[in-house]
Amino acid sequence: MSGIVCPHCEALVLSSYKCSNCTKVLPIIETNPFSLLGLPAAFGLTKVTIQEALIKKLLIYHPDKFALADSLTKKIITENSALLNTAARTLKDEVKRAENLLLIRGFDLNNNQDLIHQQVLLDSLEIQEQIEGANTKGACEVLLDCILKQLEYNYQEMAVAFEKTDLNPAYKLVVKRNFLLRAKCNIENKLEKLYEVI
Ligand SMILES: [Zn+2]
Repeated sequence: MSGIVCPHCEALVLSSYKCSNCTKVLPIIETNPFSLLGLPAAFGLTKVTIQEALIKKLLIYHPDKFALADSLTKKIITENSALLNTAARTLKDEVKRAENLLLIRGFDLNNNQDLIHQQVLLDSLEIQEQIEGANTKGACEVLLDCILKQLEYNYQEMAVAFEKTDLNPAYKLVVKRNFLLRAKCNIENKLEKLYEVI
């Protein structure tokens, strides 16, 4: 447990929901989005699970409960709620959820970037070429369908990869997901333009 100086009474207390000295609400200092929402650090969380955890936590800081509180307490509950909302948004994004899991498990995202840079670049270039070569709605739709399937497969592979101790495969899948999402965006933009023309 980490200590915190209570912003209300300035006592050094353990970080928790309320100050053990003055009993007022303390600011959240937790940065791990999973712990923030009381969720297990796992990849296979659904959006529904994350939303339910968020609502449960937000209820603790509901403004109605603090209608008569002082302004500092009101400021803290607003900030705490904002932190919870941000954590939920982060976890609902599969790539960000995966990146946070890698960080929590001690995988250095920056130091490992060069390792797979080459392979990712080649795969990414290949998809980019396919996108550039697809000049009809039909060709774009086939390509989009293929990318969507790859994204789905990537998600399943990622769920398995995060069960393992070696996180290198999981990291590669995260990087792959990033470029697949970019490719999806590019092909969707292209399709949109093709539909505009006619
Ligand atoms: Zn206090």
